[in-house]
Amino acid sequence: MQNLRVFSIFCMLLPISVMAQHTESILSVYRSSGATQQFPCDVVDSITFSHTHDPIEDDAIMLWHDTSHDPVLIPIADIDSMKVLSLPSLCPDSHHPHAIDLGLPSGYKWACCNVGASSPENDGGYYAWGEVEEKDSYTWDNYNLAHFDSFVDDYICNNVSLNISGSSYDVARVKWGESWFMPSEGAYHELMNNCTCQQIEYRGKQGWIFTGSNGNSVFFPAAGNYTYTYITLKGTSAQYWTSNFHLDNSLNQQAMFFSISMLDNRPLYNVVINEKFVGRTVRAIAK
Ligand SMILES: [Zn+2]
Repeated sequence: MQNLRVFSIFCMLLPISVMAQHTESILSVYRSSGATQQFPCDVVDSITFSHTHDPIEDDAIMLWHDTSHDPVLIPIADIDSMKVLSLPSLCPDSHHPHAIDLGLPSGYKWACCNVGASSPENDGGYYAWGEVEEKDSYTWDNYNLAHFDSFVDDYICNNVSLNISGSSYDVARVKWGESWFMPSEGAYHELMNNCTCQQIEYRGKQGWIFTGSNGNSVFFPAAGNYTYTYITLKGTSAQYWTSNFHLDNSLNQQAMFFSISMLDNRPLYNVVINEKFVGRTVRAIAK
């Protein structure tokens, strides 16, 4: 890197900690590949231009987001444009989880982050439906709420409540205490019916932001699901267990989950059903 000369073209000092209560400044970098990278302005210290005489290396801009970390280097030729956007603020401070009021008719507040996560962009834990601990693999064989029945040659799920919200099978209640519980299918429908949805990359994580009529928002990272020993669909799908069991047949193998993905560049979300042994993320709500 001896032949790298760094020119401080501009030290664009961006708003650091003083932000309006309901907005957050985001530096959006539009890449020629069509991808967008977004950096909260409060973690961008400065932007510098680095020019190299080495024909193998590209000229690049460097985002210094923390003096204790290496800068993010983006080749100039790969940048279409950069813009500072004002997005709804997710949290009032860094003491997560917060109960976010989205102005919903029920009065339910949504947690700012997943159960087991330390911040909104973190995936948090994966849990089989009705289980309250994470595992190294998620199979019918190690699912606590089912047993193998040799007569039917299949797994039969235990006959727990149709709605486990607030029960000992509710991981939000068990991990976070009395104030929190798993959303039902109906709570997710209320979220879908009363909020707008936008796909964004937030703090380096692909996901979706739901914004209520009062301007407040929650972010759902695309954490995918944990099936057998693999996390799949990470970066392209968010999947949240609801508290609702799905009545299907005598095996009782299905429960409902909230699914978000992309179809034809538009967010697609709904409550669907799947097998309970699969590890999925959980979002909590509070009254
Ligand atoms: Zn928060």
